[in-house]
Amino acid sequence: MESSAVQSAANAGLTALRVLQTRDAAAAKRAIAARVNGVLCDLSCLVSETDTVEPVLPEDADALEIYRHSTAHLLAAAVLDLFPDTKLGAGPALKDDPKGGFYYDFLQEKPFTPNDLARIEKRMRELVKRNVPFRRIEMSRDEALQKFSADELKCYFISEKGGENPSFYTLGDRFIDFCRGPHVPSAGCIKAFKLLSVAGAYWLGDEKQPQMQRIYGTSFFTQEELDAWLQQREEAAKRDHRKLGRELDLFSFTEEVGSGLVLFHPKGALILHLLQEFLYGELLARGYDLVRTPHIASSRLWETSGHTAKYRGDMYPAMQFEEESVEYQLKPMNCPFHIQIYKSQPRSYRELPLRYAEMGTVYRYERSGVQHGLLRVRGFTQDDAHLFCTPETLEAEIVGCLDFAQKVYATFGFDYKVELSVRDAQDQTKYLGSDDVWALAEAALTKALDRLGLAYTRVEGEAAFYGPKIDIKVIDAIRRTWQLATIQVDFNLPQRFGLEYIGADNQPHMPIMVHRAILGSLERFFGLLIEHFGGKFPVWLSPVQVAVLPIADRLNEQAAAVARRLRAAGLRVEVDARSETIGAKIRQAQLRKVPYMIIFGDREAETGDVAVRTRSEGDIGTLPLDAFLARITHEVQQRLPTP
Ligand SMILES: [Zn+2]
Ligand SMILES: [Zn+2]
Repeated sequence: MESSAVQSAANAGLTALRVLQTRDAAAAKRAIAARVNGVLCDLSCLVSETDTVEPVLPEDADALEIYRHSTAHLLAAAVLDLFPDTKLGAGPALKDDPKGGFYYDFLQEKPFTPNDLARIEKRMRELVKRNVPFRRIEMSRDEALQKFSADELKCYFISEKGGENPSFYTLGDRFIDFCRGPHVPSAGCIKAFKLLSVAGAYWLGDEKQPQMQRIYGTSFFTQEELDAWLQQREEAAKRDHRKLGRELDLFSFTEEVGSGLVLFHPKGALILHLLQEFLYGELLARGYDLVRTPHIASSRLWETSGHTAKYRGDMYPAMQFEEESVEYQLKPMNCPFHIQIYKSQPRSYRELPLRYAEMGTVYRYERSGVQHGLLRVRGFTQDDAHLFCTPETLEAEIVGCLDFAQKVYATFGFDYKVELSVRDAQDQTKYLGSDDVWALAEAALTKALDRLGLAYTRVEGEAAFYGPKIDIKVIDAIRRTWQLATIQVDFNLPQRFGLEYIGADNQPHMPIMVHRAILGSLERFFGLLIEHFGGKFPVWLSPVQVAVLPIADRLNEQAAAVARRLRAAGLRVEVDARSETIGAKIRQAQLRKVPYMIIFGDREAETGDVAVRTRSEGDIGTLPLDAFLARITHEVQQRLPTP
């Protein structure tokens, strides 16, 4: 958010707000900030007659970030009022973050207690009630460094980010912080907010630096939106995959193994196996070739691929055997391996497209503070594939990837949103590859989306330097979005590795490479699935599909015979032969979220029928065993959603 250029070009006290008021008083009243010549500014910023001034209204794309960032200032102002010796770190707005809509970092020796949070929130409400204004102050860099010489955190921001004329904002009596702005004009604009939690955070994210306290909060333009978000958060907490993972005995982490390294227990590993089986079936049916590559590779490979230069901070350090001169590194990505397989023999346009797929386990360094159960782990398996194609076949390959993703997401009952990231039309110098090839690739992606009738958002300037891409975000059962699939065109790696094929003209050409993953990280996807289903996996994925519950010990033998029948049909079945009441057995199966329960009593023993319950609908009546078997087998084979 840059605004100083506009503000210094001011004249005669004309503000953005004044311009808006003369044009449309109603819109000016709702505006929280302004866009002056395309740059976001405070409403109080000075403008000249010739500037274009537009209002930023609550419904605009930039508005929530400004609003939440303003709420972060409100938080810091309240903290300084109550704890005057506190020093301030960063206070950004957050988007789509389950932790909240903003945070502020505070350097303060005494840890904030829940009681402190309540006091701070109360103080924030007082500032809102008093409608305290946000005021902007500009000074020279030297003046600022002098003024804040006792505050090493502020001096850091001023030196690193302040430029020649750093700007500051005040709010109330004590708060002043370096900030570029813009903000809402006054605290009274902030209608609905809540403080959520306190966490430790290192200054500059560096474990060697002092530990600060990060207060998370969120804010919305209306109380209804805030309430809905809080309710969703509560629902998410009930579905938290870390909690359900423990309760359903799916996975764990131990300190002995190391942080971010997941252990899948039998039931979790079984679900992963079933997921992969599903994917392998689709891959083979769609003309992919399966490949398999090592977990480590010589550092030379990562140098050629450019990972060492671009990605070093995420890679594990090199290892070396004394008698060898070569260093090895754990793989952070699978791409260079698949490229080696492509290069293993001369290629002709007739064999393209080649589609190499691998459930490839990669290792990336994640700082221990940012891990979150399965969502960010240090070793994970991607459902990775690389397509090597000619310009002529690119579009059809993209259609294939999108169709694949649609099939997979429909199986899990996800809605999704599609984003197409293309070059920045203003600045095409930062991209690798010729204009022709970019135009071709962007057209292929666009046509593929159109051919499938997929609605998408086109994002200018979000393409990687090496090619345009399509991202798919799925929407889970409680309307949260998760970035999953990426279909990324790459002009870079083929060039770095000198890939070729012989074209119909008998000349060598460079293939176009596409990286694509549908689920992304299987571990993260597993975490998402647990939360999406709230632990109630569809029948085909349930570790135990049927629990046979004899109502008395004398029926255990016959119940076991029913279980054998079902197992012979390929189902995963358990018999609860404990000497417990049938009520206790049902409760237990329900807690374990087993989709089907067979209540086995004397009448069933006589007739050969089964009395069936589902975990969601309860009692669904008595039916012949064969009819039940047909129903459940159909659900498993079709991978139907949960009963
Ligand atoms: Zn600010
Ligand atoms: Zn790749």
